[in-house]
Amino acid sequence: MTAIEAVTPPLVLADRMRKLGTETAFDVLARVNRLRAEGRDILSFGLGEPDFDTPKHIKQACKTALDQNYTHYGPSAGLPELRRAIAEYFSRTRGVSIGPENVVVSPGAKPVIFAALMALVNPGEEVIYPSPGYPIYESISDWIGAVTIPARLREENAWRYDIAELESLVTPKTRAIVLNSPQNPTGGMLLAEDMRKIAEIAIRHNLWVLTDEIYSRIVFDDPFASIYSIAGMEQRTVVVDGFSKTYSMTGWRIGFGICRADLAQQLARIETNLHSCTATFTQIAAAAALQGDQTEAEAMTAAFRRRAALITDLLNDIPGVRCVKPRGAFYVLPNVTEACRRLGLADANAMCDYLLEQANVAVLPRTCFGRRLETQEYIRLSFATSDENIVEGLRRMKSAIAG
Ligand code: PMP
Repeated sequence: MTAIEAVTPPLVLADRMRKLGTETAFDVLARVNRLRAEGRDILSFGLGEPDFDTPKHIKQACKTALDQNYTHYGPSAGLPELRRAIAEYFSRTRGVSIGPENVVVSPGAKPVIFAALMALVNPGEEVIYPSPGYPIYESISDWIGAVTIPARLREENAWRYDIAELESLVTPKTRAIVLNSPQNPTGGMLLAEDMRKIAEIAIRHNLWVLTDEIYSRIVFDDPFASIYSIAGMEQRTVVVDGFSKTYSMTGWRIGFGICRADLAQQLARIETNLHSCTATFTQIAAAAALQGDQTEAEAMTAAFRRRAALITDLLNDIPGVRCVKPRGAFYVLPNVTEACRRLGLADANAMCDYLLEQANVAVLPRTCFGRRLETQEYIRLSFATSDENIVEGLRRMKSAIAG
């Protein structure tokens, strides 16, 4: 008998893997962790996750649920008690009247983006999404064979869509427009008047709207507006929302989608194929989050409001840096074009490397947030970190940039 030689075959992936992007923020997190393991004192403004602990009563509800043996499969669309709690919460906060049949629970908000685009968009159809924007809209649209059409957000427009420009991107092939307000990575918000105009466009051109409202509770001065609240839009809107940001539950992996009931069933069918259901004990905790004391969630938003003002002022105090004050979420996207020029740095990516090496400060370059449409240089800072870290981090940045 001849021995079979053990060789490692080259990894040959399916063609579609070439089209899949990623969220490079996670790569920066890995780099920060490596440097920290080497003993470097890095202050990170990288990943967008609240620095607070999940409120105690939510953790307690999870522990109780485990003791009550909520440890089995549940329905793909979510446990009835959580779907009811979400329907009640959503109706109250958006001024609408929906039922549990309009709710799909998922392991995080992210899977709703994937399921909705999978369910609604054919290969070759166009998806319009914000740029700079959360990178997953672009990477998933690409992956499912859609044509990606980034719509430019401008600093001078406080990072809101230019509505005329948005409509100019619509073609007979457009299938969906993505909204994200308050927005990652700019902290910008779409106001009620923007929503009205975007709804008119969606109805006029028979489009779906995917609206990512995960930061709806983290708003500073302007009231949150949902396009779902506009009459007629409930037939053509999928809302993405969840618990990660409001209740500081990023690691729990729980979120939800809201849409018409016939589509909700289809999103649940995708869930059946992917992960069967969301962990049941976390669903009980999520219901407790919505129905329990909101004091801690409100205190987190108050902290983000204070930090938004603090970080904007400190950034604007650095020569060559200019920053629009965010209206919500926990991000700022300062313009560092002039600072790059002064330091002889080619672009925002070089600025990020420079800050990490020279100032021990981790920030993300604009290129993490979708295809670039502008010539200016931007970096993103997440201010989901303590006031002390913000003051110290910005002191380091200022001295590295201004000398
Ligand atoms: N949408 C946006 C705009 C986000 O910023 C994030 C998290 N960074 C998500 C969705 C994903 O949320 P989750 O962790 O609940 O999947």
